[in-house]
Amino acid sequence: MSHIFPRHTKQLPPVAARGEGCYLYDTSGKQYLDASGGAAVSCLGHGDKTIIEAVKAQLDKLAYAHTGFFTSEPAETLADLLIAHAPGDLDRVYLVSGGSEAMEAALKLARQYFVEKGEPKRGRLIARKQSYHGNTMGALSAGGNEWRRAQFAPLLIDMSHIDPCYEYRLKRDDESLEEYGLRAANLLEEELLRVGPENVMAFAAEPVVGATVGALTAAPGYFKRIREICDQYGILLILDEVMCGMGRTGSLFACEQDGVTPDILCIAKGLGAGYQPIGAMLCSRKIYETIENGSGFFQHGHTYLGHPTAAAAGVAVVSALIGRNLIPQVQTQGAKLMAALEAEFGQHPNVGDIRGRGLFQGVELVADRDTKAPFDPARKIAGRIKTAAFEAGLICYPMSGTIDGKTGDHVLLAPPFIINDDQIDELVQKLSGAIETAL
Ligand code: PLP
Repeated sequence: MSHIFPRHTKQLPPVAARGEGCYLYDTSGKQYLDASGGAAVSCLGHGDKTIIEAVKAQLDKLAYAHTGFFTSEPAETLADLLIAHAPGDLDRVYLVSGGSEAMEAALKLARQYFVEKGEPKRGRLIARKQSYHGNTMGALSAGGNEWRRAQFAPLLIDMSHIDPCYEYRLKRDDESLEEYGLRAANLLEEELLRVGPENVMAFAAEPVVGATVGALTAAPGYFKRIREICDQYGILLILDEVMCGMGRTGSLFACEQDGVTPDILCIAKGLGAGYQPIGAMLCSRKIYETIENGSGFFQHGHTYLGHPTAAAAGVAVVSALIGRNLIPQVQTQGAKLMAALEAEFGQHPNVGDIRGRGLFQGVELVADRDTKAPFDPARKIAGRIKTAAFEAGLICYPMSGTIDGKTGDHVLLAPPFIINDDQIDELVQKLSGAIETAL
């Protein structure tokens, strides 16, 4: 009998045995095409010898040293590497163990920044419905996914949630995409005025939404207007690139394509590429200097902050992304994946939208393409697709999200950046079969 506490107690998973390139194998020898990278983690694929060697070499030198006493060479190198490629005046890197930790650090840093700046009333976060920022209490409070929040409601912090920029569901027919982008961004200003800008510390959003609604990109100009509003009312912009960062959307940082620089940027999954658990919070010079010239102490921290072995994996991953020219490959293979999805599902009666950027793409399923009516949640379409795909040897990331009280079914695809043309065909064919089985 297993003593593991699994995610699904009624559906015990097979035992993963090994990984190679875009494939995982269980102990029975069954092969699975990993088309979601374990939720956008495995950007380099499995079994990458360079990263494995880098981790081993670091373990031989120094596995761990507490940041209360030391910094370490890999942590310093990773911070330099990230800042060398980060947009704008992002200047400092706080290394953590994953995405939720990065978001918790971001929320606390935003709050401490205003306390030290002499604006102690600023404590409220505005975020978006249809967002996911992590599972710890602060990050879960920031997230706007009703299903994930529901049973923990008594534990959550009061925050504001505005509508996301969601062209397929929320754009009106009488407005252009740009007009819609502006209208969606202006919801931030409306909410600021409603709650009093002097009470607000930050706005948080994913540049491309991942885990609640499947690769939702913003309309052109949306984030530029968001940046303007943040500046006008003196609030910080926190961008959560935990899932969409590290090359996933075809640029190292997703926000580069939106032409904005946040004050705080969170990354995680692709940073360790699955070889080590690691995340990071990057912040601007102005925020760092406020703490440096104030208390001199960020009142936050975890035992595994700046973990040398995890940082060594991060250095090797970022070096591989850049050195192997993988980001242009994300753009090329992403375009092929999008074309293959369009060819297979473009006319499908139950596929309402196909969207995304780079190798971060999503398909939204609907009961009726004309009315965009979602499936009855009781049919559990997303869950059925996951099961059918897994059965067929495909790992994808189906999910249910809620907008205006209606649940929709989405499939997120985030394969390794090394996916080749044949594997793209295999992915789309297996997904197509799984959707037919589930419907
Ligand atoms: N932020 C975003 C955008 C995510 O997609 C996730 C995880 O899916 C998180 C935060 C939380 O990251 P982690 O699961 O590493 O704590």
